[in-house]
Amino acid sequence: MSLLTRDGWLEAHAYLRPVGELCTRIERAAAGLDAENAAIPDWDLYAADYRAGVPLLASPDAAIELEPAGKMLESLVGRLASDSAGGKVASEASALAAELRARPGASRLVMDWLLGEEAFDPPSPGLLRYLGWTAAARYLFPVVDAFGRWRDEELWHRKYCPTCGSPPAMGQLVGVDPGRQRFLSCGRCGTRWRYRRTQCPFCENDSQKLSVVAVESEGGLRIDYCDTCKGYLKTYDGQGNEALMLADWTSLHLDVLAHDRGLERLAASLYDLESLRPQAAE
Ligand SMILES: [Zn+2]
Ligand SMILES: [Zn+2]
Repeated sequence: MSLLTRDGWLEAHAYLRPVGELCTRIERAAAGLDAENAAIPDWDLYAADYRAGVPLLASPDAAIELEPAGKMLESLVGRLASDSAGGKVASEASALAAELRARPGASRLVMDWLLGEEAFDPPSPGLLRYLGWTAAARYLFPVVDAFGRWRDEELWHRKYCPTCGSPPAMGQLVGVDPGRQRFLSCGRCGTRWRYRRTQCPFCENDSQKLSVVAVESEGGLRIDYCDTCKGYLKTYDGQGNEALMLADWTSLHLDVLAHDRGLERLAASLYDLESLRPQAAE
């Protein structure tokens, strides 16, 4: 079976099945939401902040309204709480739904918390973060798309996402030498942005060369790491299958491999790696 499909991938990596099924279940619930979309901002108003390195969502001049994404998140939590498939996710979602109901202004608060601007201590923070960015990515999709067409990549080259400010989750190499380029991929909002090929996206050291762990028969995935800080970035050395290969959960086994080599995951993750480790070791 082809590694290029989700089913083929799960067939070849059976230990990823629980996380794959969970993602599918959440995607299905999210697909049934009444989708609202963020309004495209006035790029001229945002241009100065962009040059200064202020991510789009943090810019008062871009003024992206986030409360509707918070409302979508509340609906998504409600859907999972009443999911007849039940299980741990449904009970965690029920507790989250109760917590959100009890909070005045929850839809705003929870978005500020996702962006690291507000303190909030929910039960199951990992699940809420995952659901929150699932809802927000849907809401923000047209803006991320328009932003990609508007921005001059030469003016960014930063180690955090130009849309939401997150460190990258993964990397991607595109094209052929000498014009080959590296992009960093955000695991939260789905933005991809250009970054220098040989510079570490964590400590920013430029050793002219990153070390690489090539992984056999993994559909173009490899591990790039920095000798200075030992941070690594899972990198997709291919094109055409980004949705699967840059999803992060599809390569959680590479995180185990990197961890076993003494490398450190400094990349952002929406997945709780510790809880996945025993499964991956099977
Ligand atoms: Zn982002
Ligand atoms: Zn480094």
